[in-house]
Amino acid sequence: MESGITPLVEVRDLVKHFPVTGGVLLREIARVHAVDGVSLAIQPGETLGLVGESGCGKSTLGRLILRLDEPTSGQVFFEGEDILAYDPERLRKMRGEMQIIFQDPFSSLNPRKSVAHIVGEPLLVHGVKTRAEREERVEELLEVVGLRREHMRRYPHQFSGGQRQRIGVARALALNPKLIICDEAVSALDVSIQAQVINLLQDLQSEFGLTYLFISHDLSVVEHISDRVAVMYLGKIVELCDKKTLYNNPLHPYTQALLGAAPVPDPHRVITHTILKGDVPSPINPPSGCRFHTRCPYAEQLCREHEPELRELASGHTAACHFASQRPSLYKPAVAG
Ligand code: SF4
Repeated sequence: MESGITPLVEVRDLVKHFPVTGGVLLREIARVHAVDGVSLAIQPGETLGLVGESGCGKSTLGRLILRLDEPTSGQVFFEGEDILAYDPERLRKMRGEMQIIFQDPFSSLNPRKSVAHIVGEPLLVHGVKTRAEREERVEELLEVVGLRREHMRRYPHQFSGGQRQRIGVARALALNPKLIICDEAVSALDVSIQAQVINLLQDLQSEFGLTYLFISHDLSVVEHISDRVAVMYLGKIVELCDKKTLYNNPLHPYTQALLGAAPVPDPHRVITHTILKGDVPSPINPPSGCRFHTRCPYAEQLCREHEPELRELASGHTAACHFASQRPSLYKPAVAG
C-alpha cells in the first residue's frame, strides 16, 4: 500500500464460485459467481464499509476473509501472511484474531446455553481451561459492552435485541481480536438500538484499536461508521474511496443510483435521482463487459463488450467505469438551502 504500513487484511483477485448441481447424477450444471476478482486492503484501526444490494457477494467476501469458506482462487493475507497456506492448527490460532458479528443476534446465540457459556466458549476452545478464569473474563467482557455481571446466568431469550447483540459483541471480543467483521450487525435492530450498538462499536474501536469490515446494505449506517467505503455489484468492487468523497462525489453510476435511492435525513441535501432500471441480473450468468450495463443509464456498446478495470481516477478514489471521469453526475449532494 502507498502508506508503507502493512495492511491488516489484504485480498488479491479473490474469486468464489459456488457450483449449481442438477440431474440424477447431481452434476455441476452452472456456477454462481458470488465473488469475482476482488482486491482490497484494510489498514490497522480503520473501518472499511462494504455496501451493495443483497446477493452482491459482500457476506461471501467476509466469510472468505475469515476462511469460513474456501476461495475458488486468489489470495488472503493477514498481517502480510498468506492465510490460505496455513495448516489447521495455525488457522485455529489465527481465528482468535479475526471474529465476526452476525446480523441476527437471536439465531446466532444458542438458546439452550447461558451467557456465561456463550461468551466463554471461545476461551475454552482457545485453551482457557478453568471455569473460574473463564467466568472472570466473561464478567469483564459483559461490563465492557454495557451489560452486568449477573446477566451471565441468563439465557438469550431473556434479553432484548440490542442486549443480545451486545452479547454477540462480547463473544467477538473474548480473544482480543484485531479484526471484527460486522455482517449486517445492526440491520435487525430498531433505529434507536442501532445507534447504541454503533456507538458501542466505535468506543471499542478507540479503546482496543480494533479494525472493522462493516458489511451493510444501509448507506446511512455505513456513512456514520466507516473511514472508507467499498461498493460491490454482482461479485465485483465497482468503487472504493474515503467516505466523504464517496457520499459527496460518487463516480460510478451504480453508487450514484444507490445514494440517490437512499432516504437522507438532511433538508439541505438536494438529490437528483438516478432510477435503476430492471432487476439485478443473475450471478449464475452475469452480463458481458461491464456487469452494470443492463441497468446503467449511460451504457454504450463499449460497456457491453469490454469489462472496465477498477482504476484510480483521483488520489485514493478508484472506480470501474469506462466513462466515470468524462460525464457529469446526476447525483448532486449537500446543496445548502
Ligand atoms: Fe455504465 Fe458503461 Fe460505466 Fe458500466 S462502464 S457503469 S455500463 S457507463
